[in-house]
Amino acid sequence: MLGSRRNLKSEVVSVPVASEPRDYESHLQSNANIVSGNDPANSVRPISLKEQLKDWALKHKPSRECCNDILAILARQNLDVPRDIRSLIPKKSKLVIKSVPPGFYSHFGIEKQLMSFGDYVSQFEEIVFDINVDGIPLFRSSRVQLWPILIRILNFKVNNILPVGIYIGKQKPKDLEVYLLDFVQEYDNLSKTGICVSNKIVKLRLRAVICDAPATAFICGTVGHTSSHGCSKCTQVARKIDQVLTYTTNSDKLITDEDFTERRLKNHFSKKFRSEASPLETLNIKMVSQIALDTMHLIDLGVVRKFLIRLLNNKTSLEYKAPKENLSTISTKLVSLRKYIPLEFSRRPRGFEDIVHWKATEYRQFLLYTGILALKGSIHDELYYEFLLLHCSCRLLSCPRSYEENISLCQNMLSLFVENFPIVFKENSVSYNVHSLLHLTECVKQFGVLQNFSAYGFENYLQILKGYVKKPQCVLKQIYNNVKHENRRISSQQEGFVEEKNRVKKFVTSEYIFSTKFPDNYCFILPDIPLTIKSFDKENNLVIGKRFLNQTHFFSQPIDSLKLLGICLVDENINDLEESFPTSKIKCKCIGLPYQNKILLVPILHGCF
Ligand SMILES: [Zn+2]
Repeated sequence: MLGSRRNLKSEVVSVPVASEPRDYESHLQSNANIVSGNDPANSVRPISLKEQLKDWALKHKPSRECCNDILAILARQNLDVPRDIRSLIPKKSKLVIKSVPPGFYSHFGIEKQLMSFGDYVSQFEEIVFDINVDGIPLFRSSRVQLWPILIRILNFKVNNILPVGIYIGKQKPKDLEVYLLDFVQEYDNLSKTGICVSNKIVKLRLRAVICDAPATAFICGTVGHTSSHGCSKCTQVARKIDQVLTYTTNSDKLITDEDFTERRLKNHFSKKFRSEASPLETLNIKMVSQIALDTMHLIDLGVVRKFLIRLLNNKTSLEYKAPKENLSTISTKLVSLRKYIPLEFSRRPRGFEDIVHWKATEYRQFLLYTGILALKGSIHDELYYEFLLLHCSCRLLSCPRSYEENISLCQNMLSLFVENFPIVFKENSVSYNVHSLLHLTECVKQFGVLQNFSAYGFENYLQILKGYVKKPQCVLKQIYNNVKHENRRISSQQEGFVEEKNRVKKFVTSEYIFSTKFPDNYCFILPDIPLTIKSFDKENNLVIGKRFLNQTHFFSQPIDSLKLLGICLVDENINDLEESFPTSKIKCKCIGLPYQNKILLVPILHGCF
């Protein structure tokens, strides 16, 4: 039947149980057929009184007697409420756990997760999603790890990451087919039938697979990135130089989807899948073009980290070595920028003494915002130019307004970056990540701007899942119960003017928060007027500020920073005259960083915090 809910239990297959550690046996026993909470709240807006009562009861967990007394009071006021709280919180559903050697797996279900958004889903003709698989260690003192299957719904702007299945074990799942079986079966059905919401059939389509390189190899059935045939996009064969697997700086013949399906390049596959189809192939996923190069691991944690670590460890060619005092100057500069970072960013810069703890977003902030200032004048000019090649191409490829027209320019800059890399950082420095930059623009053509195919959202959600686990027993049950109570409402963010003490202090859009207070008071007005915000006029929908003067570029090579990136230097002294502009004329917010008695203005990229 079209869109009917499937019984999870019927999808459980008989899998031979490996000799599990005792704690896993007890884990399985204590989790099997667990009865737990209800579906998360429905997303219909405006939120009904019943929905509010349900949320209140789930949040505060009062006794049933207490709830029913309140319901009785409300009923006496002629409000439409049930007599018993149990009718608001429907019957609990079962958590089914099955053995997937060497651990256990529970399938939460694609359809079930989507249905928890209620009618909201029915406004779409088609739900499009990306999938991510990754392993995360659960506790510091043990090898226990989770391998969740996550999906990201592209139709939703918030609350868009959903867990559809979770594996737990002391090693990763041994058999890919057994691990993905429930997902593959369910998606195979849903892609044919769609899901039925409010008597409407909504189609379902998988757009991209977004994982780090090891997880990508795992779920595609290919050899890993540490193999000489590790590039998933071209036929390049890496070789060892000084015991380090090294790629050349050019792309070889590109691999097509048909090359993959026809098994024309046997060496690219793991032993098992040289002759048989991998599970994702059975879903007609294009195994080259629909597999994204995740930019978080490839660029931020890959190339940018390598660039900095090589620089700090003096692993550069002799002429590019930076004196120790220069490195410490860069580090000091970074720390001095902390107070200039606007509230869109979750982290402020840290010095190099903490670099082992830097998160992906800190490398990203360095690449796109602070690095151009911190490195200037402290490293060899050619090394700085090399950094700018990556900075400029990643900035252009992150801008939704102009990335399409700049793709070939970016391809040229990235090719040059890769070509220069072994000259600057020695011959064996061209790793899988550095080489893969050559294939980045192909992914941009396929999926759009860089942030469209990064794993950031998935990584953040993995941490949330981990946070659900408070004790080592019944891990899947704990996660299941918490997932059920996640907020599944798609409420639009409050946009417009924000008043404090009867004065308008902020103007909020879907992308930025503009304020009259430093450091959130810099913006560009269309077409390119740099402004420091002084006040807002709510009645007339205006932003009022003073214009910065003497705009010049910050660098002219490899491209003009002002003309193509909007990055410019301006005088600290601003125009005396206050000017008003309609808020619709605001182009973007920017960071203002101090540079030699001037201010360096760097536009904040859409969704690039
Ligand atoms: Zn390649």
